[in-house]
Amino acid sequence: AAWEKKVRASARVRRSRGHSVLVTGAAGFVGCHAAAALRRRGDGVLGLDNFNNYYDTALKRGRAALLARSGVYVVDGDIADAELLAKLFDVVPFTHVLHLAAQAGVRHALVDPMSYVRANVAGLVALLEAARSANPQPAIVWASSSSVYGLNSHVPFSEHDRTDRPASLYAATKKAGEEIAHVYNHIYGLSLTALRFFTVYGPWGRPDMAYFFFTRDILAGRPITVYESAGGGSHQTTISRDFTYIDDIVKGCVAALDTAGRSTGSGGKKRGTAPFRTYNLGNTSPVPVTQLVDLLEKLLKVKAVRKVVKMPRNGDVPYTHANVSLAQRELGYHPSTDLQTGLKKFVRWYLEYYHPELAEKQKLRTSSNGKGSR
Ligand code: NAD
Repeated sequence: AAWEKKVRASARVRRSRGHSVLVTGAAGFVGCHAAAALRRRGDGVLGLDNFNNYYDTALKRGRAALLARSGVYVVDGDIADAELLAKLFDVVPFTHVLHLAAQAGVRHALVDPMSYVRANVAGLVALLEAARSANPQPAIVWASSSSVYGLNSHVPFSEHDRTDRPASLYAATKKAGEEIAHVYNHIYGLSLTALRFFTVYGPWGRPDMAYFFFTRDILAGRPITVYESAGGGSHQTTISRDFTYIDDIVKGCVAALDTAGRSTGSGGKKRGTAPFRTYNLGNTSPVPVTQLVDLLEKLLKVKAVRKVVKMPRNGDVPYTHANVSLAQRELGYHPSTDLQTGLKKFVRWYLEYYHPELAEKQKLRTSSNGKGSR
């Protein structure tokens, strides 16, 4: 009963015309930012996360604690737990689900392939099953990935481009998710929107991503391995990523939820009429990974010890580059943070979180420099 009360209180809508949103993966990087943004504008928000140990669980607990302070409760549970999901949809008539829970990362699939199948395929099906039986049926917006474009060589990537050459199991499960979701749209009339995120970065980010562990290792004076190029002979390609700042991604998620609208609500009468949409959410300006390291060196004021190598076949793709004109047109999505500005915010957070003494020193230095030079 106490649990139910907490769940209800968290999901209670604060402002008129607000939504009631279930955010899965809410203790994750994108999830915590998205849940906080939805709450700020008055939506009712309930989080769900299994706090798995794929990376530092203290970071996940920290994000959840931050959400708790704004009144968002994160239920500790698994999206593949059908009973738990049925109970949640029973207690709260969610209008929307923002589904971000997943096994992320490309390289970890070489170590634990089944974790991708469990979270990204079985977990998604469990969620879709719960949603199609719920009354009202919630509109679902979920995270796919730019990785579905795989070894497509046509840039920038547009939503209608081929996605039949995945380079990793992660990409294959994200692509499978899109196909599975389509079936639930077709048979049960669920409103479904896939968002293909392009390399998201920012404060409270993921320690398994390059910008994050480069920062950690540069500060520790440890060598970093930088993939500069892929391929051979005349087919050499510079490794680059369309780095997209977290605030831009969150704006895209919120716009997608609003566009998805209220549920079809009829539990079947309107079958086939609900929308199925797919959007790229990227930054539209790819940056070579070597340049990412240059920027980090400048911001951290430390020289990196670089081991520059050719990219091995480990599931990574050589480059990503989003065409976002569809999201621009239909969601009003306009990415507005360039890599230097966004990285500065990340580095500031990183120092304050992991090295408060260093952050303090840098701040002092900036202010005394400011005084001296003006
Ligand atoms: P993240 O790992 O920080 O967040 C995912 C969260 O889901 C984690 O907190 C994890 O504990 C939780 N989770 C995993 N399996 C679960 C399960 N079975 N039940 C309940 N919770 C579970 O990753 P993120 O960067 O925030 O990514 C969010 C979504 O966006 C993911 O679907 C990811 O695949 C996708 N995506 C991210 C990026 C990026 O660059 N960050 C790029 C493309 C796509």
